[in-house]
Amino acid sequence: MNIWLASGNTHKKLELEAIFRTKGDGRDIVIRVPADAGIDNFDPPETGSSFAENALIKARSLYRLLKERQPSSFRDGEPVLADDSGLCVEALEGRPGILSARYGGKDGKKLEAAKRNALLLEELDARLEFLPPEKQNRKAHFVCAMVLCYSEDRFFIAQETFEGELVNTIGAGRGSGGFGYDPIFRIPSLGRTAAELSEEEKNAISHRGKAGKAIAGFLAF
Ligand code: IMP
Repeated sequence: MNIWLASGNTHKKLELEAIFRTKGDGRDIVIRVPADAGIDNFDPPETGSSFAENALIKARSLYRLLKERQPSSFRDGEPVLADDSGLCVEALEGRPGILSARYGGKDGKKLEAAKRNALLLEELDARLEFLPPEKQNRKAHFVCAMVLCYSEDRFFIAQETFEGELVNTIGAGRGSGGFGYDPIFRIPSLGRTAAELSEEEKNAISHRGKAGKAIAGFLAF
């Protein structure tokens, strides 16, 4: 069974394949991306004001394109899956939030992950200096809104979080797994960063893993 993922992010595809691999009635689930249908540079404008709105924009946009173009790899009835995710830092009033992918970027160009991570830690340190002691903390959480779309008006949505804190310095960043902000996101109860977790460990507790589990319950097999 095909599920069409409204994203070109390879890491997300890998995480979602692992999340959905164990679901369903034993039939293989294949995660397809826009490029599999000849849709290049799929990147609809994320104009929503929340994770959920942006996830729905991406899902509907790919659904429309697939219906219009009817590529041979797409069969009517196959669902479209989209997620919108990001990191919310408590001391920064929830920023970068829905702007996480674009944080620190200029002229529409995204900053590479290591530079973006260093910039975020710098911004947090600068802010903490001006906060009263009781508000000084490094708490952060990831959010993932996930939408499973069967038509433009028929969809299921789940939103989940993954709680942790930002490491003290960029030098304290650890791990080579995961992607994005993972090396600077530490889970206090485990004493490790998200980039130090195995794929299975991360999926069991992550925002995307938990939202995916909830959404898998809506898959029609
Ligand atoms: P999206 O592709 O528009 O949903 O953007 C998500 C942004 O949040 C990307 O920049 C990612 O780096 C970041 N992000 C989302 N989920 C994770 C995660 O599990 N680990 C690290 N970074 C993440």
